[in-house]
Amino acid sequence: MSNFNLDSLIRDNIRSLVPYASARSEYSGQDVIYLDANENSLGSAYNRYPDPLQQQLKTAIAAIKNVRKECIYLGNGSDEPIDLLIRSFCNPGRDNILVFPPTYGMYEVSAQINDVAVKKINLTADFQLDLPAALQAIDAHTKLIFICSPNNPTGNLIDAESIQQVLEQFTGLVVLDEAYIDFNAPYSFLQQLDKYPNLVILQTFSKAWGMAGLRLGMAFASPQIISVLNKVKAPYNINAAVQQLAAQMISGNTNVAQTTQQLVAARTALSAALQAFPFVKKVFPSDANFLLVRVDDAGRLYAYLKDKGIIVRNRSGIALCDNCLRITVGTAGENKSLITALNAYTYA
Ligand SMILES: *Cc1c(COP(=O)(O)O)cnc(C)c1O
Repeated sequence: MSNFNLDSLIRDNIRSLVPYASARSEYSGQDVIYLDANENSLGSAYNRYPDPLQQQLKTAIAAIKNVRKECIYLGNGSDEPIDLLIRSFCNPGRDNILVFPPTYGMYEVSAQINDVAVKKINLTADFQLDLPAALQAIDAHTKLIFICSPNNPTGNLIDAESIQQVLEQFTGLVVLDEAYIDFNAPYSFLQQLDKYPNLVILQTFSKAWGMAGLRLGMAFASPQIISVLNKVKAPYNINAAVQQLAAQMISGNTNVAQTTQQLVAARTALSAALQAFPFVKKVFPSDANFLLVRVDDAGRLYAYLKDKGIIVRNRSGIALCDNCLRITVGTAGENKSLITALNAYTYA
């Protein structure tokens, strides 16, 4: 990355922004009398504002991820850093981002909300980056490139070599969304942050960690990039209960490794079972906790399952996903109910 210059990438008004200094960010010691933040001293267990930089939780995450604490940003889900990256780096009405459909919809939605243009280069037929077209699409106003690996909704990893090529040839930020990296992916880019100053990695507690309801997402990047995000974020974006609960789950007896193995095994079984149905045209290989399935008539099957009380995601409308349903791997009982319903559909 010879021409990488973080300062020049930052949105003009953000570069000069003086961040809000929250009362609680000015003092980090303990055993003092806090009369600085208009909290209610007589109040509940949660009467105090939470740590704006989530130091304890970050220490726990740094240890399990083998990443320096200064390289971690925590958000209200990883959807928050997606929006924050766009707001921090893209000048509305002028800059653009590059995405590779079919992929996660929030990149485009966040860009639209921020009046940032979206360039799209479809993945190839085998759901990999079309590298020549991708590099060609970059212009002087392209600030961010979003790559999702394993990709949602296709489920496959993006070839590491082509991600490296984008990292090396693009002078803006490459946001690599690894929301599904914990389902036995053979590689992650998390240990390559030092090598690529323009790399931002997103991960989340919503999938393998099973904490979607808590809303906790992570962005990993150089300390310089992280400080830009810290400058722009809402002061208390992670509430005290979530900071506590997540730290407990990390240090306590979590069974994440075990449930992950279970889900991966169930994915394999579900994929085999689905392939046996005559109306299933293709079950795409998956490195995530869901399967993309091409059927003869996705609209009809979706409606049938919904009628049976089973909700899947109809992805038919999006690029390269004609007649495709995205099916999350559930519990053994849920997967069985799905198969039972599909058996009845065969003869319906
Ligand atoms: C689920 C998902 C996320 C984010 O989830 P949060 O719950 O906001 O952390 C991000 N990217 C992809 C591709 C996802 O599928």
